[in-house]
Amino acid sequence: MAVTCNKDCGGGCPLVAEVDDGRVTRVRDNPLAGRTMKGCARGYEMPRVVYAPDRVLKLLLRTGPRGSGQFREAGWPEALEVAARGLAEVQSRFGAGSILALAGFGSGRGSLPSTQRLTRLFLALLGGYTEITGGYSSAAADFVTPTVLGTYLPGIDAATLRHSMLIILWGANVTDTRLGCDTEFHIREARRRGVDVIVVDPRRSATAAKLGTRWIPLRPGSDVALMMAVLHVLLSEGLVDRPFVEAHSSGFEQLERHILGNDGGVAKTPAWAEGLCGTPETLIRELALAYGRMQCWKAAAAAFPPTSAPSTAWAAITWCRAVTCTRACVPTRRSTLACATTIC
Ligand code: SF4
Repeated sequence: MAVTCNKDCGGGCPLVAEVDDGRVTRVRDNPLAGRTMKGCARGYEMPRVVYAPDRVLKLLLRTGPRGSGQFREAGWPEALEVAARGLAEVQSRFGAGSILALAGFGSGRGSLPSTQRLTRLFLALLGGYTEITGGYSSAAADFVTPTVLGTYLPGIDAATLRHSMLIILWGANVTDTRLGCDTEFHIREARRRGVDVIVVDPRRSATAAKLGTRWIPLRPGSDVALMMAVLHVLLSEGLVDRPFVEAHSSGFEQLERHILGNDGGVAKTPAWAEGLCGTPETLIRELALAYGRMQCWKAAAAAFPPTSAPSTAWAAITWCRAVTCTRACVPTRRSTLACATTIC
């Protein structure tokens, strides 16, 4: 039968589950999905998850202190009674705002498996709740991107990668930790056409090994230094689109002074970054020139959370995009412009 994978990678891969006597025996790609959409080991191995011997299949109530591991089986009436009593007690003593809605996961599709939506609906009907702001997954990007680009939803359709002449995967291990079911395919196709795929990652990841034409290693947590050095090269080599920056940005002068060291600080040169990143100065220069000399409409890259302080790294990535990616960088949700996610 046709199924989709609901793991939290966002791919929603179209798959086929083979069922024998009511039991899923195998999960494989759905041939109707075409050649671009492929699942991964996480989706294919779902039968092992579903039938794992240590999977919790019965309602359990904790009987000992938290962390003690002491539980006993319970029926639905008792479990519902315990939950209802607890919620009512907290609400009457401390108010609805004392209940934090923390359930859920990012990309669950549909209504039944969406624990996030269902929990919030339920608590809203009950009188309200406290909502969280941000999260470990995308809070840095959500904070930085609108400030620099004017929207928090810039992005591309992975299929547009086929129009790229340069792909930079910065901290993006798309082979192991997939973000969509066709990204890897389109990068592989681009590489087959001779597109340079530069992978910036502390590890020689599976992505670097299988998809990359060049691997640029750096020390974990030193992305920002590397990005600043790239920006330094873009500035000193005249690769910044100044008319665009002047027309569409504010605060660029301070950024430029900071990067060039004209604010009393150190110039963020490739030599400076080498000491922090461990990445050879010449390699940093090569990266910056490869990126900066690519006309904006030809370059595309996928940016994912780098290895250092996320908000600073996102800011640095976004600066680089802003100073080079000119008119076509006007961000749109699921833009069809390949350069909409060009990064340094
Ligand atoms: S890429 Fe893997 S984890 Fe993601 S939806 Fe597809 S099969 Fe599931």
